Amino acid sequence: MPPPLSASPAPSLSATLRRLVQSFAGQPAARRMARPAPGQGCPGGAPRAPRVVVVGSGFAGLRLLRALERLLPPEAAELTVISPVDHLPYASLMPQVCASSVEPRHLAVATRRALRRTVLRLGHAVDVDPQARTVTVQGNDGTVDQLGWDRLVLAPGSVTSTFDVPGVRDHAIGLKNLNQAVYLRDHVLRQLELADAAHDVGERRALCTFVVVGGGYTGTELAAQMTRFTRRAVANYPRVRAEDIRWALVDHSSRLLHELAAPLGRRAGEVLAARGVEVRLRTAVTEVGERFVRMRGADDGGGAERTIDTRTVVWCAGVAPSPLMATIGLPTSHGRLVVDEYFRVAGVAGLFALGDAAAVPDLTRGGEPAGQTAQHAVRQATVAARNLAASLGHGNARPYRHHDLGFVVDLGGRDAVANPLGLTLHGLPAVVATRAYHVYALNNGSNRARVLSDWALDLVAPHQIVQLGFARGPRPTIASAEETGIYPTARPQPAAARLLT
Ligand SMILES: Cc1cc2nc3c(=O)[nH]c(=O)nc-3n(C[C@H](O)[C@H](O)[C@H](O)COP(=O)(O)OP(=O)(O)OC[C@H]3O[C@@H](n4cnc5c(N)ncnc54)[C@H](O)[C@@H]3O)c2cc1C
Repeated sequence: MPPPLSASPAPSLSATLRRLVQSFAGQPAARRMARPAPGQGCPGGAPRAPRVVVVGSGFAGLRLLRALERLLPPEAAELTVISPVDHLPYASLMPQVCASSVEPRHLAVATRRALRRTVLRLGHAVDVDPQARTVTVQGNDGTVDQLGWDRLVLAPGSVTSTFDVPGVRDHAIGLKNLNQAVYLRDHVLRQLELADAAHDVGERRALCTFVVVGGGYTGTELAAQMTRFTRRAVANYPRVRAEDIRWALVDHSSRLLHELAAPLGRRAGEVLAARGVEVRLRTAVTEVGERFVRMRGADDGGGAERTIDTRTVVWCAGVAPSPLMATIGLPTSHGRLVVDEYFRVAGVAGLFALGDAAAVPDLTRGGEPAGQTAQHAVRQATVAARNLAASLGHGNARPYRHHDLGFVVDLGGRDAVANPLGLTLHGLPAVVATRAYHVYALNNGSNRARVLSDWALDLVAPHQIVQLGFARGPRPTIASAEETGIYPTARPQPAAARLLT
């Protein structure tokens, strides 16, 4: 159990310096929310409830707060969530947003509706001071505030990892949030429109060439579903033929879907091949430009580089924990904040972390960090809520333990592959398992009904081939779309921590 809370000490020197630098740089200095310690009297006389602040309202943050609202009586804690968006984006179905099978709003689980008494602060947590027990919030409206906390839960998820491959940051498109999914759909339709108007055959071919990098579940689903979408959409563009459309899926490993058993990866490869997707395995992308992608494949003979002319490279090659974690100056493992199986950060009473951004030991796999999946995030949230409530004197803490239930990969149409509870499924049974899982995991009646109606419509109605205008201006970089440039530079970690990373 975490040690009892102490009253907040004075702000650290680094926090004071940072505020001074901000004010010299012309940024608004953070407003400090002065507040008495828990149990001490408020100006009105009543003792104030401890403040619980949660960073992120994704799979982990939202589920944790729902559980806390159940576990804690209203007077036991003041609950606040900091999030740049007012919803949980159900990421698992984002490839279907790109492919027009599901409307983007139907994947957005509304935070304000899901939570009854949690205060939502729209913005980013940009700095955490574990000594001063404050979190700095850069509001979506441009304000900068500092919030004190008695319990802080960090669940800011992850961002696209570009692995420092030249050009990826500037020219590739990521798929980590709903904005990017909507943008990608518009972008693809815009390429078809430009191809329709192009006179040069080479130019038309490049505009109709789409390259997805990363053969995990996101990249494989995207390539499979987008091939169907573009083949259908082409009928709306008289000068573009179905044969002009080319989709390629590139991965450096020797098989697709490394998260699943090898036969399911092979099966997905067969489905992709039948749809005409070029699958390039054992191939590493070496550079992405505005009008090309370069790659080197082990099977290309002599290691020569191959260049593909394209205006579209979608980067689904991996994720990295939120950059916020590296700025705190606490031990990380591959960028994920190190916590114990109770989600506690060693040495900082009242600080918890979970989800993609935390290295939560998976006791079912010898304490290796748990996978960065929604499956883990939501289950961690339930246990973390229980442990946080226990730290406030409500119930008992328990360690996190979860056996992976498997993966589901929807390839569109009548194709899917899945391994729920160790079963190996493909074709229609896998489609049923996949869709049933998503409906269950959406965990919200209104969103479930909307997604089900989208799927029903998708069976009978043609797609609406319209652009909403998102792809007209300059292409957003991955950093701007995922707002990763807003954090102060990383603080040095303790020596022991560096050994872990
Ligand atoms: C396209 C795609 C498909 C996927 N498919 C599957 C699947 O089929 N099955 C599966 O198990 N997993 C899947 N995943 C992975 C799964 O979505 C993640 O593992 C899961 O979202 C992690 O939950 P989380 O709460 O840690 O992070 P998230 O759900 O990403 O939530 C983090 C939240 O924090 C917010 N945030 C970020 N920075 C800050 C900040 N500084 N301050 C405040 N808020 C912040 C973000 O806006 C976000 O809302 C998929 C992911 C993607 C991108």
